[in-house]
Amino acid sequence: MNIAVYPGSFDPVTNGHLDIIKRASDIFDKVIISILENNSKEPLFTVEERIELLKRSTSDIQNVVIDSFSGLLVNFLREKNARVIIKGLRAVSDFEYEFQMALMNSKLAPEIETLFMMTSSKYSYLSSSIVKEVAKHGGSLNELVPEEIVGEIYKKVN
Ligand code: ADP
Repeated sequence: MNIAVYPGSFDPVTNGHLDIIKRASDIFDKVIISILENNSKEPLFTVEERIELLKRSTSDIQNVVIDSFSGLLVNFLREKNARVIIKGLRAVSDFEYEFQMALMNSKLAPEIETLFMMTSSKYSYLSSSIVKEVAKHGGSLNELVPEEIVGEIYKKVN
């Protein structure tokens, strides 16, 4: 089985993430969306809440599972028998950091490949932090995040 891991904060999941998830799930037998637990950023949603929001947003995709990890990402992949890390790229500004991470991960685990997927242009401006900012100031989240989770985001920021 060809298993890929899509890691990130997903605080909360956006339509940009979902676009990558759908495209990756067409290519791989199984995609494990994995929430990074040891993040230095102070999150809005707990890991459990983020898992729940991701589950609701991906309920129609058969070959996706939601999980979380702490420590080294490559160790998580080895545990899950996965060989590919999926990363989304929005802009040149994402590149340098992701390039460094990909090289370090391949040094730590040469058998694991990082695969970059370009954002769809309509989501290139989207990030979890901009979604939180818009919600905080009462802006519309229409087309920014999955419909199923809009209410949860407003509830949390207010
Ligand atoms: P952020 O907080 O920056 O929105 P995450 O850490 O949750 O993002 O991102 C997880 C992964 O999803 C990263 O590989 C990131 O580059 C990618 N990603 C985030 N937003 C988008 C988007 N709009 N289009 C494509 N990829 C994205």
